[in-house]
Amino acid sequence: PEELKRKMVEEVESMKWSPSWALNRMKNWVENAKDWCISRERYWGTPLPVWKCRKCGYVEVIGSIEELRSKAINPEELKDVHRPWIDRIRLRCPKCGDEMAREPFVVDVWMDSGVAHTAALRQYGWEHLLEKLYPYTWITEAADQTRGWFYTLLITGVLLYGVRPYQAVLLQGHVLDKYGRKMSKSRGNVIWAHDFMSRYGADPMRLFLLSRAPWDSINFDPDEVARYRGVINTLWNVVRFAISYMELDKWKPHGIESVNLDAEDVWILAKLYKLADNVAKAVETDSMHQAIKLLEEFIVEMLSHRYVTVVRPRVWVEEETESKRAVYETLFHVITNLLKILAPFAPFVTEYLYHTFTLNFGKGLKTVHLEAWPRKPANLVLDETLVKVVERLFEAAEKILSLRMEAGIKRRWPLKEAVIVPLDFDVNVVKKAAHILARYANIKSVKVEEKPPTSNNYVVVEVEGFKIYVTLRLDEETLLEGLAREVIRRAQVMRKEADLPLDAYVAKLIVCTSDAMLRKAVEKHKQFIAGEVRAKEVELVDVCPENGKEWKIEARKVVLKLEL
Ligand SMILES: [Zn+2]
Repeated sequence: PEELKRKMVEEVESMKWSPSWALNRMKNWVENAKDWCISRERYWGTPLPVWKCRKCGYVEVIGSIEELRSKAINPEELKDVHRPWIDRIRLRCPKCGDEMAREPFVVDVWMDSGVAHTAALRQYGWEHLLEKLYPYTWITEAADQTRGWFYTLLITGVLLYGVRPYQAVLLQGHVLDKYGRKMSKSRGNVIWAHDFMSRYGADPMRLFLLSRAPWDSINFDPDEVARYRGVINTLWNVVRFAISYMELDKWKPHGIESVNLDAEDVWILAKLYKLADNVAKAVETDSMHQAIKLLEEFIVEMLSHRYVTVVRPRVWVEEETESKRAVYETLFHVITNLLKILAPFAPFVTEYLYHTFTLNFGKGLKTVHLEAWPRKPANLVLDETLVKVVERLFEAAEKILSLRMEAGIKRRWPLKEAVIVPLDFDVNVVKKAAHILARYANIKSVKVEEKPPTSNNYVVVEVEGFKIYVTLRLDEETLLEGLAREVIRRAQVMRKEADLPLDAYVAKLIVCTSDAMLRKAVEKHKQFIAGEVRAKEVELVDVCPENGKEWKIEARKVVLKLEL
């Protein structure tokens, strides 16, 4: 037994353990292992194949059903190899000629599962695969199995074949309730998987469970699962956005290399292939939670928030432009490959979208689950400097967006101007990407200059490699137009609340406010407001009407009333 233990420890040390502390736990267990009594005094179970002579005590261990049949005095009784039938089988003692009876024990269930490496193949007659599969690549179970299944497989594997039965092990934590308590029926905090999935969906639940480090215990929080449903919805909306425009234009894919890509196209493609590499790396190190984080970031931040926002104006044009085709090719390429990367984690929604999107427009396989892992095509060259520039400009735009927030200037109110001064990038490369800053941060005019502007009307935003000068104040013209739009938005909400048909006109929109800028805005844009709100007249008053609705536009108070 000491020799067996030594060999087992050696094998344990040769495996890959996740998390790494599991190696020592397993080693300690093996080093201090006691004898394992493999028999049990039970009725149900695998009968121990041991027969003993009732007279001289001679013991025989039977190795197969065939052997048992051939040695049995009464083989016709062997209708089933379990109890009670097996207990009726008698053998003839080769020593004294008396009858032998079976020892009335069954095998410990850990012995059953402990030979799974061989039994799982033998039950189908697939023993020939053993040589190919053994030792198995990967095994996973709950953390307490170092003294259970991991251990029993190891003993039988080393005894039978002299080597470890598996190469890599992942220990998993338990699933607890939201507050970290064990789920139990008596406590009433059990979450039933089927019930839960029918309400939240199977894919969001998978994403949630995979989003936690697998070796930690997981506090099951339904709100968090709902958050992952949000991630899937975001992807869904991006696909719907793509489909609606592609169908409108009766577009068909011709391959990503058939178009001239804009800076943001190059950027998202580079991000896609980086995602593919990093997700693969994460999975290979059992860090599925890292993979989920990367996928979420790509779908929500990069694809939906950034890319789609920036390309919207490119697909709004009605004519068939090269730029629009580039967006379609990019979206098709990115979404299709994203589905392949996401498929192992969210198998249902990806399969659905693969059929309704990828196969609807282009060619593919029978199912997304037969697709190979995405690799960047050799002929797809993505300018790394340009990717970096785009990345930095998005960063700068985020900073400008938070400055806007602090200053109370909403994103839908365009800022007048920004000047990008590259510190260590070529001006001509930066010019290719300047429109990204304009669209993402909503700035009317963005210029790229070698030297900073001399006027001091600018706020400076710094990111690595750039200084960006931006006018953070709204000029009066923009402000007045913005305020007029705010009034329109609120009046339209009131139209909806009043359940007016879309094309119905109202007699009058009454606007009551004492705010000077707001009055000026309404005065100046009366026609515009009237047209948008479908009011025959817009009236600005000092004394507010009864039954008007009070609104706030930033800090400005206004009362609106629709007269039908
Ligand atoms: Zn005997």
